[in-house]
Amino acid sequence: MNQKPESTIFSEAKHSATREGHKRINTCISFAPNSSAGVIPSKTESSKAQQVPDMEKMALGVKLILEAVGEDVNRPGLLDTPSRVARMYRELLYGTGINPASEVTCEFEEGSEDPVIVKGIPFATVCEHHMVPFVGKADVAYIPKDGRITGLSKIARVVELAARRLQVQERMTAEIADAMVEALQPQGVLVILNAEHLCMSIRGIKKPGSMTTTMTTRGLLKEDRNARLEIMQLLER
Ligand SMILES: [Zn+2]
Repeated sequence: MNQKPESTIFSEAKHSATREGHKRINTCISFAPNSSAGVIPSKTESSKAQQVPDMEKMALGVKLILEAVGEDVNRPGLLDTPSRVARMYRELLYGTGINPASEVTCEFEEGSEDPVIVKGIPFATVCEHHMVPFVGKADVAYIPKDGRITGLSKIARVVELAARRLQVQERMTAEIADAMVEALQPQGVLVILNAEHLCMSIRGIKKPGSMTTTMTTRGLLKEDRNARLEIMQLLER
């Protein structure tokens, strides 16, 4: 929690992803239509079609809640609230139906097989049980395979897109890991989310400040305990 956002590549490897000379580009399975690497458009292209939320329906729902709690929906302070809340949820949930893997541009760097760790990526998402936010930070680590890497900002975008939908923390953790696997087919992935759930802080058991940590692993980082411990140690730095 005193963790600062930071991006670190733990390797001798070059920090800048090369944009030229991607000799094995046709083995890349990333789905990035704007990729400078000229990646093949994908089958997930169709799933990238953004859901168009029904704003009137959302606003009506909010208005019904206001009426149900006994508010005067015509008083000046509340007049625009239904449409304002609708716009807020449109923004918070814009990733609904979009595959987070679509954010990953697969690039190539010869011989790049050293772990890449991006630590402390902030996110805010919405708990699907209560529709209030949970807010936290994500650590994402992967070990590339056959030189397939991606830009560090792309990893932050995967977290952002996975967050912009109704979520539970366990599923969000898995979705980030699966997106990395789908886009990069790395040797291994490890994802840790640490979050405070407002549905625990402001209602129910009312325990502000309590944090929930979830972790998931794929591939080598699931199977090889030593590899996993090495990454965990790097995360503690
Ligand atoms: Zn909740």
